[in-house]
Amino acid sequence: MTGVHEHTATYDWRDEAACVGEDPEIFFPLSDSAAPGSEASLARAICRRCPVLLACRTWAIERGEDGIWGATTAAQRRSVRRAATDR
Ligand code: SF4
Repeated sequence: MTGVHEHTATYDWRDEAACVGEDPEIFFPLSDSAAPGSEASLARAICRRCPVLLACRTWAIERGEDGIWGATTAAQRRSVRRAATDR
């Protein structure tokens, strides 16, 4: 598997994704734990140097994706969605 979590559609922000060529497994960790050395931690470190972090994060929030996107975990993005819904 390669590419930005195997997205099937083409988005221009994807062309600049820092995770292209990285192991996609670390972006879908079994645990949301971001403890040092964890898969989520490794994925988020890659995201933090990604030039399209915000576009990616917004995309994942809007779609309710699982895994690490835009340096956030699925639980973090669910919180953002809940906060936006509660407004
Ligand atoms: S923010 Fe992270 S998951 Fe999103 S495109 Fe960049 S490296 Fe990939």
